[in-house]
Amino acid sequence: AKIKQVAAPAEDLPESARPDGEPMVRAEQVWKWFGATDVLKGVDIAVHPRQTLVLLGPSGSGKSTLLRCVNALERIDSGVLEVDGERVGLRERDGRLHELTERELCRQRVRIGMVFQRFNLFPHMTAIENVMLGPRRVLGLPREQAEAEAERLLTRVGLSDKLDAYPGQLSGGQQQRVAIARALAMKPHLMLFDEPTSALDPELVGEVLDVMKDLARRGMTMIVATHEIGFAKEVADTVAMLDGGVIIESGPPAECLVDPKEERTRAFLSKVL
Ligand code: ADP
Ligand code: MG
Repeated sequence: AKIKQVAAPAEDLPESARPDGEPMVRAEQVWKWFGATDVLKGVDIAVHPRQTLVLLGPSGSGKSTLLRCVNALERIDSGVLEVDGERVGLRERDGRLHELTERELCRQRVRIGMVFQRFNLFPHMTAIENVMLGPRRVLGLPREQAEAEAERLLTRVGLSDKLDAYPGQLSGGQQQRVAIARALAMKPHLMLFDEPTSALDPELVGEVLDVMKDLARRGMTMIVATHEIGFAKEVADTVAMLDGGVIIESGPPAECLVDPKEERTRAFLSKVL
């Protein structure tokens, strides 16, 4: 089904608190290692409000790790990482940086929505119950309000007729759209997508990408790890090509994807196209 395209209602976009010109996400010389393995080796990114950054790169290049660092699921070992002007996982007090408590980390993560390759819906809950859960439990929304909001979001991702379906009764593409609605229900300032269509049958990829395109068009700030070059060309403001934990090339898709400067970028594109 084609997703209906309507103008963005204002309430869909939590206004970024970022001052004009300041990025929503800023990474400077971010390093991450596991034991003796360096996984991110001095990564710089800047994602401005309402922009989409697409992360490309071969398997093992560090895309998931970078997204996990942005979401404070992994702690960086060196460098600076800020979301919404705040250091991820850290707080400044008395001129020193302190690690956040688990509780404070949760508060930081609430503003970031994440969608994974595997949808991780609760199998014993219907679509609408999956979407309502976070707003009820974490945001403390009353049932009626959470339900109305969940119905609105499921309608927006084209699933108004599947509110009461269980995940097992839905296709992979439908489940992934429920997962996106579930993330949006928490009113995130930033959405992270980690290869959201990689686990889908080819004929279901388009419906999920359409929802993501719609989200970008409405002004959501997004970082998307994907191998979907068509999506990157159409939606990305910036693409960053990761290889071995290093951004080897980045810029507007019209440059990086059409006329890449790096031989490794060319080689990667020729494999995924
Ligand atoms: P991508 O998402 O681009 O495929 P990942 O970020 O998943 O790349 O992985 C980058 C590298 O980091 C890989 O070599 C992977 O084996 C390694 N890695 C990721 N997570 C861990 C971990 N928890 N412990 C050790 N190595 C890891
Ligand atoms: Mg990955």
